[in-house]
Amino acid sequence: MAQTVLFVGLGNMGSGMAANLLKAGFRVLACDLNPEAVDALVEQGATAVSSLPELDASSVDVMITMLPKGEHVANVYMKDSPQSLPKGTLMIDCSTIDVETARNLGEGATERGYPAVDAPVSGGVAAAQAGTLTFMVGGEAEHFERAKPVLRAMGKNIFHAGGHGNGQVAKIANNMLLAISMIGTCEAFNLAEKLGLDAQTFFDISSKASGQCWSMTSYCPAPGPVETAPSNRDYAPGFAVPMMLKDLGLAADAATGVGATIPLGDHAKAIYEAALANHPDKDFSVILPMLRQGELAS
Ligand code: NAD
Repeated sequence: MAQTVLFVGLGNMGSGMAANLLKAGFRVLACDLNPEAVDALVEQGATAVSSLPELDASSVDVMITMLPKGEHVANVYMKDSPQSLPKGTLMIDCSTIDVETARNLGEGATERGYPAVDAPVSGGVAAAQAGTLTFMVGGEAEHFERAKPVLRAMGKNIFHAGGHGNGQVAKIANNMLLAISMIGTCEAFNLAEKLGLDAQTFFDISSKASGQCWSMTSYCPAPGPVETAPSNRDYAPGFAVPMMLKDLGLAADAATGVGATIPLGDHAKAIYEAALANHPDKDFSVILPMLRQGELAS
C-alpha cells in the first residue's frame, strides 16, 4: 500500500516537493498556515489538514517539515504534532535550521520513539519543482535508509552526512563556501573589467585556469557567459540575498559555538548585510553590480 506522508510547510520549496511525492504515488496530507497553499496541493490530489494537533494521524508513515526556522520546527515537533501520530513514524526535517536545534530535536524525537533525520536541501525552487534537489542527511544509518525512498521522489542526490545535525553542518559549511567563492568571483570580474579585460574573455580564460569554480562556470555573476545565470535576468533570484544571509548567520553562530574562526565567512556576512539593505529582492550574485557601482567601497 502507498505510504502516507504528512507534509508540513507548503511554501516556495515545500509545495513543489509535496507535488513530487504525489506524482511518485505517495498519499500526502497537506498542512500549512496558509489555506491557499493547502488548496493548491489538494487540487493535485492531496488531502487537506485543517488542524495539525487534532489530525487523525493513525495512517501516517512519515512526517516531513519544510519550515522557515528552527523555532517553527521545534514548535511542530514539541507542541503541534498530532496526538495520534503512531510511534515509529519517521520524522524528516528538510528545513535549513541551526545545528543545535537540529541535534536536540533529532535526538529527542528518536528517544521518544519517532526516528528522526535532518535533511536540508541544496537547490532552489526550480530544483524543488523538478525533483532534482540534493539532500544532506543527519541521523542514524538505519533511519537514513528508511528516508531514502521518500527523498528520492524529491531529489537526485542523497548523502548521509553522519549523526543528528550533520546534514545542517554540511549545508551551512557548503553555503558559507559558496558565499565566499561568489564574492571572490565578483571581485575578479570587476577587477578584470576595470583593467580592460571584457567579461567573456576573462570567463573563457579563468574557467579553464585555476580560478575556476561553480560560482563562475555554473552561475556566472557577469551577464553573458552562462545563459541560465540570474545575471542574465537582472539578478532575479535564483537564490535570494536574504536566504544567503540566513545561512551565513547560521554558520557564524555555529562557528562561535565551537570556537571555529571564519574570518572570510564573517566578512561575507557583512557584505551580504550591505546587499540586503540595497537589494533585498535580488539574487546573491548581485555583488558584481554592487562592486561595479562602488556600493561596497570602504
Ligand atoms: P517559505 O516561507 O516560502 O515557506 C514556509 C511555509 O511554512 C509557509 O507557507 C508558511 O505558511 C508555512 N508555515 C510556517 N509555520 C507553519 C506551521 N506552524 N504549520 C504549518 N505551516 C507553517 O520558505 P521556503 O522558501 O519554502 O523555505 C523553507 C525552508 O527551506 C527554509 O528553512 C529555507 O531556508 C530552506 N531553503 C530554501 C531554499 C529556497 O530557495 N527558497 C533553498 C534551500 C533551502
